[in-house]
Amino acid sequence: MRLIKEEIRLKGLPICRGIAIGKPFFFHLTENNIPHYAIEKENVEKEVLRYREALAKARDDIICLKKELGKEHVVEGVQILDAELQMMQDPLLTEDIEDEIRSRASNAESIFQETIDRFQKRFEMITDPLFQERFKDIQDIAKRVLSYLLEKSTVSLSDVPPESIVFAKELTTADIAEANHSCVLAFVSHFGGSTSHAAIVAKAKGIPYVTSIEYEPIESFKDSSVILDGRTGEIIVNPDDETLALYQALKEELDAHRITLRKMQNLPPETYDGYKIGLSANVESLAEIEMLHRFGGHGVGLFRSEFAFPSERNFPSEEDQFALYSSVVKQMAGRPIVIRTFDVGGDKFLGNELIAPESNPYLGCRAIRFLLKESGLFKAQLRAILRASVDGNVSIMFPMISSLQELLEVKGVIHQVQEELVKQYDAIPSRIRIGCMIEVPSAALICDLLAKECDFMAIGTNDLIQYALAVDRGNHLLSGLYAPTHPGVIRLIKLIVHEANKHCIPVSVCGEIAADPRFTALLLGLGVHELSIAARYIPEIKNTIRHTSIIYAKKLAEKALLLSTAQEILDLIHEEYRLHFPNDIFYNV
Ligand code: PEP
Ligand code: MG
Repeated sequence: MRLIKEEIRLKGLPICRGIAIGKPFFFHLTENNIPHYAIEKENVEKEVLRYREALAKARDDIICLKKELGKEHVVEGVQILDAELQMMQDPLLTEDIEDEIRSRASNAESIFQETIDRFQKRFEMITDPLFQERFKDIQDIAKRVLSYLLEKSTVSLSDVPPESIVFAKELTTADIAEANHSCVLAFVSHFGGSTSHAAIVAKAKGIPYVTSIEYEPIESFKDSSVILDGRTGEIIVNPDDETLALYQALKEELDAHRITLRKMQNLPPETYDGYKIGLSANVESLAEIEMLHRFGGHGVGLFRSEFAFPSERNFPSEEDQFALYSSVVKQMAGRPIVIRTFDVGGDKFLGNELIAPESNPYLGCRAIRFLLKESGLFKAQLRAILRASVDGNVSIMFPMISSLQELLEVKGVIHQVQEELVKQYDAIPSRIRIGCMIEVPSAALICDLLAKECDFMAIGTNDLIQYALAVDRGNHLLSGLYAPTHPGVIRLIKLIVHEANKHCIPVSVCGEIAADPRFTALLLGLGVHELSIAARYIPEIKNTIRHTSIIYAKKLAEKALLLSTAQEILDLIHEEYRLHFPNDIFYNV
């Protein structure tokens, strides 16, 4: 008889679009960080062996310890260890666990931990202090066995079973960065906002992601199938045959749509009434330059230098930076690249000893504030960029500028570094283009003053929204308040673009809204003529640009500017998108 399992539906916050159908992998799931995952049938015996070895090693430890205590004549200790050794031969900890690994095809540490938890529950019911003592012995055994199991177990996302949908309480940028794309089909977490850096990395890798999901209710379904709909934020556990067939068809349709979009790789990003738009890529590593070429990006509009180096603990040396920037610049073969100086603090590089813990890190010593304080580090980075710029078309950009004073100070440091370099090297450029990120409302309000002192501007809407609306971009509980269509945000963008155009300096948008096609017409209508987005979204945005006229975009922006609430503007752009792109099942949900 076939066991009918009930279909369970959970609703979270969609972060990265896409459909995934796979098996759950519970990452850092319990308080003890015990991973829970399914084992392929053909690897089950290996898993049993792994458990046996861990138990044997723990036994060897106890035997050694017993010998030591024996030499020191600690009789009581020897007795305790004897009892532990006996317990380790108990079928409950040997055959029973091995049988369970086989029958449930689950990893050893999860089965082992469950057995220990069952012991604990039984012992808790017995008030006799003798039994309580025996439980301490079991805990000691458990600690030892688990430490051996975890030593070799899959606790890093670089090595998870194929077809995994990773469930976690929280995912860090590093977790997502190291996730093996061919095995991790999707992410689900409890915490995390839509423009957190972890989310940005998931989007850059094109891995569907849903947050605001409490995974505990489905923890016991580790062998079930799961569907994740990154468009709606829905998670379906144990889908029935009808649901499964529906999502398989949808996934095929989305894959086919992507392939069609890729065909426009060599067409220019211009509106159908001939208005040219700059379309560049946000890049975080040397490897992503290849993606930029593959997806038809013109240049790099934002190189997030803080993510390009392997260690979050140490800042790279000038030479290491020079080597990497040179490779990137050479691979760009004369096409423009904007290198942003380290944007650390906030939620980035927190493991670094130079980043002091702060009660309010996003309002603290972040980005340019940190670099101006750590002038040695700042100069080393500027030297590396300037040296690498000899081989290509490089500009430098500064994150989180909040006053003219700050920009002038930065320019002073560049000048100083340039003078030093000219004495050491032949070909250092006497001038490099410099840009300001406009991410703080004060910078937006004085962008006429900033425009006179820089060569270009980039609107970092991820932060601009956070700072304008006083809403933490990483807090999923505030996701309803993090509103890119808030009239305050739209007016700020309009103001920045207006001032930049008046001062004849280019301005781009490089926050996440630039990669959402429902925002494209609104941004073009507000006067933005350059967008910088994760490389894989270039075909989609190019398609949207090519199906939009600048006259229509202007009218849409005018309408939006007359509306009073974020919801009204959101409804307007969604409805307009639906009318213009009725067949886009990716965004019209
Ligand atoms: C932004 O804030 O919009 C931006 C592009 O920078 P980051 O997301 O790296 O803070
Ligand atoms: Mg930013």
